[in-house]
Amino acid sequence: MKLVFASNNKNKIAEIQSMLPESIKILSLEDINCFEEIPETADTIEGNAILKADYVTQKYGYDCFADDTGLEVNALNGEPGVYSARYAGEQKNADDNMNKLLGELRDKENRSAQFKTVITLNLEGKQYLFTGIAKGNITDEKMGTNGFGYDPIFKPENFDETFAQLPLEVKNKIGHRGKAVQQLIDFLSAAK
Ligand code: IMP
Repeated sequence: MKLVFASNNKNKIAEIQSMLPESIKILSLEDINCFEEIPETADTIEGNAILKADYVTQKYGYDCFADDTGLEVNALNGEPGVYSARYAGEQKNADDNMNKLLGELRDKENRSAQFKTVITLNLEGKQYLFTGIAKGNITDEKMGTNGFGYDPIFKPENFDETFAQLPLEVKNKIGHRGKAVQQLIDFLSAAK
């Protein structure tokens, strides 16, 4: 079975490939000669994951999966959510995004938040959605240098360190993306 992952992130692709049975071969966008930017214009995380997977299936004819992630902060009614990458502007800068979020939360007592990853799978004419959630709290300042994005200001539930202070293996295990990927792997392993 050949399945496109609507991504060119070689690390993500290799990691998922290594978790799947040999009978399932993951192709990148590059592998199918898709070099254009896929639109991410939906106003929900689910919507963007669906847009990306449908784009590849409809335009290139492949079974495909796509992921989209956002950070939802309760005191900000779920913002930045689907706009997490460009929260502080189109430069998509992680430091700018964190500074803006810390500013918005300056006077807020409720610091609870969650990362959400949605994976959309188009397989043999059907569509499946897998959701991974990591709950936690936004810190008062940045701590740690691992990871990316909002990791230095997100402390997962039951931990005293931020995602950026925890080893990557721990983040992958308790994290939103890891949980969603695990559901995809379990589904594909059973369906192959
Ligand atoms: P994407 O959908 O995986 O591209 O994620 C969108 C944005 O959400 C990223 O640009 C980051 O700002 C943020 N983000 C996604 N995953 C993580 C994570 O694991 N840690 C911190 N920030 C993340």
